[in-house]
Amino acid sequence: MASLAEVLEVRTAEAAPELVEVISKDRIRCYACGHECPIPDGAVGVCKVRTNRGGRLRVPWGYVGGIQCDPIEKKPFFHVCPGALAFSFGMLGCDLHCSYCQNWVTSQALRDPQAIAPPIDASPEALVQEAQRLGARALVSTYNEPLITSEWAVEIFSVARQAGLMTAYVSNGNGTRRVLDYIRPWIDLYKVDLKSFDDRHYRQLGGRIEPILYTIRALYEMGIWVEIVTLLIPGFNDSRDEVSRLTEFVASVSPDIPWHVTAFHADYKMLAPQNTTADMLMGAAAIGKAAGLRYVYAGNLPGRVGALEDTRCPTCNETVVSRRGYTVRDYRITARGTCPACETAIPGRWSDKTAG
Ligand code: SF4
Repeated sequence: MASLAEVLEVRTAEAAPELVEVISKDRIRCYACGHECPIPDGAVGVCKVRTNRGGRLRVPWGYVGGIQCDPIEKKPFFHVCPGALAFSFGMLGCDLHCSYCQNWVTSQALRDPQAIAPPIDASPEALVQEAQRLGARALVSTYNEPLITSEWAVEIFSVARQAGLMTAYVSNGNGTRRVLDYIRPWIDLYKVDLKSFDDRHYRQLGGRIEPILYTIRALYEMGIWVEIVTLLIPGFNDSRDEVSRLTEFVASVSPDIPWHVTAFHADYKMLAPQNTTADMLMGAAAIGKAAGLRYVYAGNLPGRVGALEDTRCPTCNETVVSRRGYTVRDYRITARGTCPACETAIPGRWSDKTAG
């Protein structure tokens, strides 16, 4: 029986020239993520899905590892057309190997024999048609790390844009200038998982913190709508000092970037830490607000975190979007994107009414 690597080998295309550099007779460098792997002929990069074949970089193409249509709040985007549906697709593989990954079946498919996720052949037109049939407003690359499969995402997003859909990445943010410039014309929304504010923790997960901080700054400067998520893991990244430094960094980029602090539950190989409690989330949220962030949300414990699921006007404290979990209960932002009580502009990509 063919191995998964062999099955995927025939589902490839040549990399975008912007994402490759020849560095010697038999070595090329990939710029699709912050690892910037120098790849010898016949070898794969750290992600195990981008391969040097005779001096040409072959990259994933023509399949999905999974698709699903979800509320956009699940991605999570809280400042984008509340209640809208987001049609999500993923491929296989990841440049990190987080031991608590909730999408490990697709992200670790090339590393972990327990992760069995066969590819499903797909075309951009069929994916976009399906998204439209289901009434989605956005098409999202997620489930595995989208940066490492950016060529295929751009192919799909170019069709999605023509159909009037917004496009998005749900990503670990391990980017490079080259890959961000490459996707920039095709992407509207970007969620970054800021997993920690400690480089040692990032190295445990297989990365470095610096490319992630660079990506967050660059995305904001490019005018792409950014929301940040931090999964709060007791004993790993939840110290007051680390949460303070993390949120102060986000606020230094812009206090208007929404920050979601979400609850951990034991998953995949990280089974030791206790589950995050509502009190822990609310404590971290208070640190984020003290750091100057205007839009702080607590996630994964619906109904247990007070008003931390709602969007409030930072000027008059009016509730402008009320939520419970992924459900929008009330939507009061004006057609001009402002607070109905005091006219303060609320940053985001708003619709004139909620879609659901
Ligand atoms: S996407 Fe990242 S991990 Fe994969 S080959 Fe390119 S630089 Fe290396």
